[in-house]
Amino acid sequence: MTSIESGLIASLSALISGADNVAITTHMHPDGDALGSSLGLLRYLAAAGKNALIVLNDRYPDSLAFLAGDDRDSIVIHEENPEAAASAINSADLLFCLDMSTFDRAENLKDMLERRSCTKVLVDHHLNPDSGRFSLVFSDTDISSTSELLYYILKAMPGTDGDAGKLPKKGAEALLAGMTTDTNNFSNSVYPSTFMMASELLAAGIDRDAIIASLYTNYRENRFRLMGRLLSENMVVTDFGVAYMIVDRTMAGKYDIREGETEGFVNIPLGIDCVRMSLLLKEEEDRFRVSVRSKKGTSANRCAALYFNGGGHELASGGKLFKGKDLHEGTAAEAARYIEAKTKEFLTDGK
Ligand code: 5GP
Ligand code: MN
Repeated sequence: MTSIESGLIASLSALISGADNVAITTHMHPDGDALGSSLGLLRYLAAAGKNALIVLNDRYPDSLAFLAGDDRDSIVIHEENPEAAASAINSADLLFCLDMSTFDRAENLKDMLERRSCTKVLVDHHLNPDSGRFSLVFSDTDISSTSELLYYILKAMPGTDGDAGKLPKKGAEALLAGMTTDTNNFSNSVYPSTFMMASELLAAGIDRDAIIASLYTNYRENRFRLMGRLLSENMVVTDFGVAYMIVDRTMAGKYDIREGETEGFVNIPLGIDCVRMSLLLKEEEDRFRVSVRSKKGTSANRCAALYFNGGGHELASGGKLFKGKDLHEGTAAEAARYIEAKTKEFLTDGK
């Protein structure tokens, strides 16, 4: 079982006891793990009688709204209400950064987070955390998700005493959902501790079937129409083991694609025998967002760090290509040429 160092737990417990206002933040474009871990912590702190708010750079996808439930008013979104986001960060005496290794990942919150001089705690599972900027660091890369790491932290806190049943139910649900999405429903980054967590939460009465139904049987039809179109007409499979797909703004508009609706697409081409690495690009106004996934033996993380201004995990990483900088014209055709050239160099030069 994952055991968290008792000195760290004692320090965290003292920090929480001494705090009045707590702010929780996470990376931009929050996914299930980012939102699940944030809500898990929010609900734990609320049960402990603390004032806590989640501050996000931008809104979570509609498909994850079920997780927020009654706590939606405790989530402040900088893109929609910058004053409220600034106020939450600037009045916090304790700040948690979850599921992000550096302040950069919070995009427009970055400067505020850096400037704020309160006590800062990191809980994260990415490679290369910027640990020096935090008073307390919980960082583990051999774990499925931030939600799992937080589960073991909260379980070890005084008051929970190792009993998952003592965690607030809605908080435990959010943690189980976060772990489920970051492992693609137990298909990758799964450790013995991951099954242990799921097992303990099931035994504590958490309704996993309801979580799975909300996560995986509630998509809009357009997601699948776009998936079909991408796989039949758009996906390129190169002769050097890279597959890629690009969703430009015209295609996203045609299929009415919302944030989060292409989640998981990048994994599909890894099912092809000769594919060692798969990339999905999504066009935004000033950039293409890049998702990179690889099979064991090929480092998605190194590729994302070398060519896509990003990083993440060994086999699952992300980054971005900026228009006017990495891509001079900023078109999807240029992005395709860039990917082919760089990934070929990456795989054939043994980088
Ligand atoms: P996704 O492809 O699902 O957006 O992200 C996969 C992984 O890469 C996640 O762990 C995510 O945190 C990380 N990631 C995504 N985009 C970036 C980025 O721009 N920079 C860095 N450093 N990591 C990223
Ligand atoms: Mn994560």
